[in-house]
Amino acid sequence: MAPLMEKTLILLKPDCVQKNLIGKVIARFEEAGFAIRATKMIQLTDEVLAEHYAHIAEFPFYPSVESFMKETPVVAMILEADNIIDSLRDMLGVTDCLEAAPGTIRAEWGSKEEGKNKMCNIAHASDSAETAEVEIKRFFSDDEIFSY
Ligand code: ADP
Repeated sequence: MAPLMEKTLILLKPDCVQKNLIGKVIARFEEAGFAIRATKMIQLTDEVLAEHYAHIAEFPFYPSVESFMKETPVVAMILEADNIIDSLRDMLGVTDCLEAAPGTIRAEWGSKEEGKNKMCNIAHASDSAETAEVEIKRFFSDDEIFSY
């Protein structure tokens, strides 16, 4: 398939911040050749989380996810590259850090602790072009996004 220039929305979650892994995770993105188009640190609120995680809001684990995502500020970023949505999701690994493929960000740095392995998984990345468009608007205004 022809390469397609895409943007994706990343959140470096509170476990990434607490483990002092912000730099290491961003280094992986830069080494992969992804361009950083926007970044800022923000404190998530219940309102934003209810939108961002609407697809899991009905699950019994949602209240824990909501608390976890507010433990510290998160680092929000927009990254751009050819086919970045799929390559970033591959680089992250699957939701459960115990099942994530070796070498992925979640396998390497996510929680292996029972009860936390599916929740504390270092980073969020948009799962489709449609979602990316909505998520980018959720976290960034046009004047915070740079092309250079
Ligand atoms: P992903 O972030 O891999 O796209 P989902 O969109 O399904 O995964 O879920 C959003 C987030 O909710 C996950 O990244 C994780 O932090 C949390 N989560 C998902 N499933 C579970 C679960 N079974 N138990 C606890 N937390 C979960």
